Amino acid sequence: MYSHSQQILVKRSSYAIGVVGLSILFFIALQWLLPSVLWLSLCFLFLTASVALYTFQLYYNKPIGIKNNFIESQSLTNRGAIGILLGFVLTGFYCCLYWYPELLGKGTTMNSGLIALFDPLSFALKKQQASEWFVYGVLYTFAILIFGIKFIIKYWGNRYQMYRTISVIFFQIIFAFLLPEFMLRMNLPYNDLKNMWPLNYYFFDSWNVGNLFNAGFLGKLMFYWGIAMIFIISPVLTYLYGKRWYCSWVCGCGGLAETAGDPFRQLSDKSIKAWRLERILIYSILLLAIIMTIGVIYTSRTGLEYLAGISTATLRSWYGFLIGAVFSGVIGVGFYPILGSRVWCRFGCPMAAILGIQQRFFSRFRITTNSGQCISCGNCSKYCEMGIDVRSYAQRGENIVRASCVGCGICASVCPRGVLKLENDGTNVLDRLNKTKTSFIKESEIQRIR
Ligand code: SF4
Ligand code: SF4
Repeated sequence: MYSHSQQILVKRSSYAIGVVGLSILFFIALQWLLPSVLWLSLCFLFLTASVALYTFQLYYNKPIGIKNNFIESQSLTNRGAIGILLGFVLTGFYCCLYWYPELLGKGTTMNSGLIALFDPLSFALKKQQASEWFVYGVLYTFAILIFGIKFIIKYWGNRYQMYRTISVIFFQIIFAFLLPEFMLRMNLPYNDLKNMWPLNYYFFDSWNVGNLFNAGFLGKLMFYWGIAMIFIISPVLTYLYGKRWYCSWVCGCGGLAETAGDPFRQLSDKSIKAWRLERILIYSILLLAIIMTIGVIYTSRTGLEYLAGISTATLRSWYGFLIGAVFSGVIGVGFYPILGSRVWCRFGCPMAAILGIQQRFFSRFRITTNSGQCISCGNCSKYCEMGIDVRSYAQRGENIVRASCVGCGICASVCPRGVLKLENDGTNVLDRLNKTKTSFIKESEIQRIR
């Protein structure tokens, strides 16, 4: 047990340690400190210690259950000054990453500043100096790992939340980060095997197909794996489990939204207007991705630059700029503290659009509701990061089969009455995952009494 004043002290200490860790990055970016392995290690050490202490003071000795206390009154999580400042910092970082990497220290022959700080790690993994994307990959993976652990502690006891978070951490570290870096070390093309078209919008670009086919048997295998993901693996898994198999268990964008973005999930807009905008935007972007890809394939097959009077190269580069960089990166992550954590997944991701259509019309997945138990508290709607007004379905006792639902299960987890159940054709996933534990406790209890 520890007192309130001790809790405040631990909280402030966690802030102070975090500021020291971030200051190291900041000073190195400004070239006031020389990059070295020591600074890199200290920076990660301080940031890890900061999140660990913060998590400790938030959840230590608290009863099992969902802990979202004070979320409305904190400046960071309620679009206050700190939240807006964080939004600016993240947006600025993304702008540098995409368009001004030299500000981060990218050099033609030698790096400096922030990017040079990651050179030793890059050399150790792939025998090449770091790029801005390597730095981004390390920070992204680190964020999913430490905030993922925080998320697991927050939802401790809820196996669905724990397992799917372990899953996104695993896929991010192994599939999105380590494997592609080792592939580069082995002179194979960079490839994130869990990333598929149209999220991976450059998959059919002639340079990518050429790289894969020039890389021998393994390269060809990666190409056919990508095709199988689009046409076989993804539709089958979506039929069986809904789009959550990808959006909440595998995808890196979803992984960051669920872990680092968790404190901002309640900021999603639940209005009908936002739902309308969501449908217009996401399906328009999907259409654009399809047209752009047809254009790219057409040009690579025929050598002709124009399709129906449109330059396929110009369309491809505008798509990369507007959707690949501005929407998915700058707005998608930079706006977490302002628009909520799944802005990209909800309004922009063409992959989510395809999975959503499959989920809506050809999937066994649904969220069932028991209106008799609902007390209309609104927790479910409030914490739905996709802006779904879950309560209105629960009040009517209607199943939720929405294209946008990513199956994160938070609505069911925060419901105090057990109204909502994630089901695959009558099989309750939450119950099944949690049953193992319950029956084990009952069994051991029976043994003890006997
Ligand atoms: S959280 Fe549960 S009880 Fe509250 S409104 Fe939603 S379904 Fe009803
Ligand atoms: S409806 Fe529930 S499971 Fe679906 S996205 Fe919203 S909170 Fe997650």
